[in-house]
Amino acid sequence: LQNHASLVEFGQKHVTHGLGRSVEAVMTKGEGSYVFLGDGRRLLDFSAGIGVTNLGHCHPKVSGAAAAQCMNIVHAQCSIAFAEPYLHLIEKLLPMMPDPSLDSFFFWNSGSEAIEAAIKMARVITGKQNIIAMQGGYHGRTFGAMAVTKSKTVYSEGFHPLMPGVYTLPYPYWHHHALPPSTSVDELTKLSLHQLSLLLAQQTAPRDTAAILIEPVMGEGGYIPAPPAFLKGVREICDKEGILLIIDEVQSGFGRTGKNFAIEHSGVRPDIMTIAKGLANGFPLSGVVSKKEYTDKLKPGSMGGTYAGNAVACAAACAVADVFREEKILDNVNARSEELFTALNALRTNPATKEAILDVRGKGLMVAVEFASPKGTGPYDPFTKPNVPEKLASKIAKRCQEKGLLILTTSVYEVIRFIPPLNISKEELAEGTKIFAEAVEEVVK
Ligand code: PMP
Repeated sequence: LQNHASLVEFGQKHVTHGLGRSVEAVMTKGEGSYVFLGDGRRLLDFSAGIGVTNLGHCHPKVSGAAAAQCMNIVHAQCSIAFAEPYLHLIEKLLPMMPDPSLDSFFFWNSGSEAIEAAIKMARVITGKQNIIAMQGGYHGRTFGAMAVTKSKTVYSEGFHPLMPGVYTLPYPYWHHHALPPSTSVDELTKLSLHQLSLLLAQQTAPRDTAAILIEPVMGEGGYIPAPPAFLKGVREICDKEGILLIIDEVQSGFGRTGKNFAIEHSGVRPDIMTIAKGLANGFPLSGVVSKKEYTDKLKPGSMGGTYAGNAVACAAACAVADVFREEKILDNVNARSEELFTALNALRTNPATKEAILDVRGKGLMVAVEFASPKGTGPYDPFTKPNVPEKLASKIAKRCQEKGLLILTTSVYEVIRFIPPLNISKEELAEGTKIFAEAVEEVVK
């Protein structure tokens, strides 16, 4: 297996068919905002490993901290003893929390595992079982996380029965509910909150409902920010009915939306918050944050995991937190975000592309472009997709790749998402948006 082509062929034969892949190549190196492939290509990375390598690939301080920890202790098992970087990480994260009540931490490996832990904790804390999740929400592929995932059936198709006790609430976004574009955010918010009241009156009574689980900016469902008034309304209902609010910041956390955590845009307090992805810039680490008063209800031994809160991953995450402050990452996110929106909104006025663009939305550097149905009647309809001649977003992403930009699609609609590294330079961002604009023009013409 010497050359690139034979490696790819080997992978196609021996790696499970259950994995999707955006690039049929071997990724051999990552450096800052770029990745290098075994076939000699260099791609500008607007995927950041699906919102993970927020400080770019192989940030020297992060990789250096991990390497140093490797020479100290790799596996200080969390159910045997504390690990120093685990505790230092908590010390660094405490002042970043969206609410000072969030003072009790448990680290795991993946976002899905954090969701599993959050669901288990909500059940023990409240003594209740049911979970309300959002339509279009994504929380992972393990059994509990899969049950609360409502973004695409491919994640659950053939895997039923799922965990019971999960109820679904429509996400307040007008295009996907076939509402007129004139529908105001206030009207949408009222509609979704009314649906929540109905859900609690008709399907899962408050005395049976442990938690409501929400991504403050929906990720895999299409990069849709939740209206702050909706989140505030949900918080009020949770307080009134004794239901916990679980905020999933796995994708939207750690500066991705221009604040430390996306929930801060609404000022709403989470009872439980899940974190992962940007936390350790690529080292496997996730976490569940809650209140000590709540987690004191858990029996010792009821949480854990062989690799949970690995010391090397925690050391990397400590370095991430330091770089985040030292390099003023939030300032860069906000400056680049404005440039990104300006570039994408230009597609709405460009006569060659404006008909194709349904929406440009998002927060910070978690931004999406949704394409309109060629019939001019709103979004591509996922139900009639087999009748749509081609998957427009995939075609555009492929064209971008040919031109040197790695970019991903998302959701059942025709959506392309922008999740570049948070420390991307002005020039790199401009390079990527130029390629994207050209690709859209070429594909939709
Ligand atoms: N929650 C959200 C909001 C996510 O975006 C993801 C991953 N895309 C997950 C949970 C699951 O994380 P993981 O893939 O690390 O299990």
